[in-house]
Amino acid sequence: MLDEKIEPFYDEVVRRNPGEVEFHQAVREVVDSLGPVLAKHPRFTERKIIERLCEPERQIIFRVPWIDDAGEVHINRGFRVEVNSALGPYKGGLRFHPSVSLGIVKFLGFEQVFKNALTGMPLGGGKGGSDFDPKGRSDDEIMRFCQSFMTELYRHLGEYTDVPAGDIGVGSREIGYLFGQYKRITNRYESGVLTGKGLEWGGALVRTEATGYGTAMFTREMLAARGELLDGKTCVVSGSGNVAIYAIEKLEQFGATVVACSDSDGVVYDPKGLDVDLLRQIKEVERGRLDRYAQRRDYATHSRGANIWETPCDIALPCATQNELTGRDAATLIRNGVSAVAEGANMPTTPEGVRAFLDAGVAFGPGKAANAGGVATSALEMQQNASRDRWTFEHTEERLDEIMTDIHSLCHRTAEEFGSPGNYVVGANIAGFQRVAHAMVAMGLV
Ligand code: GLU
Repeated sequence: MLDEKIEPFYDEVVRRNPGEVEFHQAVREVVDSLGPVLAKHPRFTERKIIERLCEPERQIIFRVPWIDDAGEVHINRGFRVEVNSALGPYKGGLRFHPSVSLGIVKFLGFEQVFKNALTGMPLGGGKGGSDFDPKGRSDDEIMRFCQSFMTELYRHLGEYTDVPAGDIGVGSREIGYLFGQYKRITNRYESGVLTGKGLEWGGALVRTEATGYGTAMFTREMLAARGELLDGKTCVVSGSGNVAIYAIEKLEQFGATVVACSDSDGVVYDPKGLDVDLLRQIKEVERGRLDRYAQRRDYATHSRGANIWETPCDIALPCATQNELTGRDAATLIRNGVSAVAEGANMPTTPEGVRAFLDAGVAFGPGKAANAGGVATSALEMQQNASRDRWTFEHTEERLDEIMTDIHSLCHRTAEEFGSPGNYVVGANIAGFQRVAHAMVAMGLV
């Protein structure tokens, strides 16, 4: 329950940011955990650290005009919300999806601040995107949109200022078009201004795989803390984008069997374990829908409109989008014996779902911690760009593994220290908050 002192503050956030329900949800989830840390450090309350964290340092909203292949003009809305720069330049992805609104970008940027702090890398937090829908658009349309988007955004970016990357709807193709336009306008080959770049022009090995791999590694650590192994476990991973595909790959390398994944049309079930090469071919090469998977593989089935959380499993990884796993879904998973849940997506579990998992004693890894491997590897990409160096796949993956293992132990330790052993929500929120808050206090009222 919210502390008495925190409740009026939360009401004020709701009043000042009307209609931004996802932002309210993200704020509530964090402040809900902070009572014990505020009691320990009265200075955080005096310096109004939470109030400042809830007011982004800068919010940019802009028009993005572009022309489709048929010559028709379209107008979209672009956003970049620069939430906090106490620990480093603003850092966080760009999302291109019709659901993108100011409230969505603010929730993502708010979460990003704590996630980035947990990585231990010098990263502030921000997020951006557009309500542009890339589905069904040609390559040329995507390019024109990205060029128009960057023509406004470039003036706010810089390797020491704000460093975007990908998120839903933005992968290395889009980063390429964005980087090309940034380079053209500024006349600077500033590799460190964007991450998730192609391997031939400043990108880092493992960045593509990093979020999914990191989520699988965090899951491995949560199980290890309970004396269990991933080997032999049955897993279900929602989504079939970048995060889901590489979470599946790594879980299978750890000896688990991943029997289901999904897209917005339905669920693929493959009792023998999903074939990652086939998934990659369909999603990354053909940019097709998941029903093709079942057409090409014996035993696999595709169920249109099905709910993936009804598939019995030991471990569930929501890797699609926000609020995709409800309290009801959590109850179904618990009834079917789930023992661990790790969030590969940002805020995929509703507050009711989180509560149900925690009450049932399920090991629950919140996105801030469990999906931090993507942005952590972005920091490794920035490091390579700054030193004009290039690391091997093995070395980079080893660094990622160390970072995920460290995040896990930090969250585990912090939860215990603040009286909620085993509660990674409390551990992640307090550990991330403390790092940012100490830096903010040190830098004075800015
Ligand atoms: N969009 C990713 C996230 O949610 C990655 C951000 C980045 O690499 O900057 O963390």
